[in-house]
Amino acid sequence: MTRILGGSDLAAAIRNDASVAAAALTEIGIRPKLAVVLATADESTAWYVRSIAGAARRTGIECDIVDFGPEATTEEIHAVLVELGHDPDVHGIILQTPLPDGTDLDLLREAINPGKDIDGTNPVSLGRLIAHLPAFAPATAQAVLALLDHHGIDLRGKTATVVGRSTVVGTPVAHLLVQRDATVTVCHRHTADLVAGTRSADIVVVAVGIPRLITAEHISDGAVVIDVGTTATDDGLLLGDVDADSVDGRAGALTPVPGGVGPVTTALLLNHTVDAASTQSAVRRAASLVGLQSSR
Ligand code: NAD
Repeated sequence: MTRILGGSDLAAAIRNDASVAAAALTEIGIRPKLAVVLATADESTAWYVRSIAGAARRTGIECDIVDFGPEATTEEIHAVLVELGHDPDVHGIILQTPLPDGTDLDLLREAINPGKDIDGTNPVSLGRLIAHLPAFAPATAQAVLALLDHHGIDLRGKTATVVGRSTVVGTPVAHLLVQRDATVTVCHRHTADLVAGTRSADIVVVAVGIPRLITAEHISDGAVVIDVGTTATDDGLLLGDVDADSVDGRAGALTPVPGGVGPVTTALLLNHTVDAASTQSAVRRAASLVGLQSSR
């Protein structure tokens, strides 16, 4: 029997913590604020952004959506990211993908103020994460680790295979697993034998975006399988990368799609925004104290 590792309870607990911290900050005059920048006609992306904004507001976090539409240029988006980076009332920034064809995503990622980079998008955040320095991890990658911890899955000394090597999910997940003393293999589109890569692992994390790529043949008996994939279908379904029917009975545990990694990711984005607000206000207070002392 495969155990289902749901994310809803954990997400609710993280949101509750964020809401308590947001209320405490608001009490002292700091209203946490998130800005989400998007530029797409894709309705499922717009729906996802609206759901983040709704969750933020319910948590006591203000949320501005800066929607450029699908014709936006790199220059326009860049200018707004820089402006938000300097705005003392904005504490967290999300640059939502996909962006219009031809936009320079690398340049835009680097324009996000690292102190407000609550989804670990700026390469500076990823570099700091890998170097064990304080930084916001990409929320999805952190959600994978949070779910494993929440469900009591020990990582030390375990073998883990991550399928997918994007800078937003696969690569940071692999590094976070290594930091937790797992022995990690990374597979990707050029991996010659995916079954060999996954079949030996105690833990398999799949972040590809191909529905039902992973079946029973990829999984060893009792393995823990974390399905990050989300592919929206025309009839409104959300499909994971794992064929849940196929791995049922072979996998020891599996995260559902929807209801697994997704809600934890959203909750962590809110939690990061409140953390960022708290850090930025402490830095400002310290700076004003130094200013007071030096003017004496
Ligand atoms: P991406 O397209 O940037 O990366 C996909 C990765 O999969 C690449 O590294 C590629 O090498 C690898 N890949 C492609 N085909 C493969 C194959 N046949 N075998 C093995 N590897 C293969 O995607 P991404 O941004 O990392 O997202 C991956 C999935 O996770 C998507 O479905 C996305 O929607 C989902 N996602 C979910 C959340 C969440 O909160 N649940 C957040 C972010 C992304």
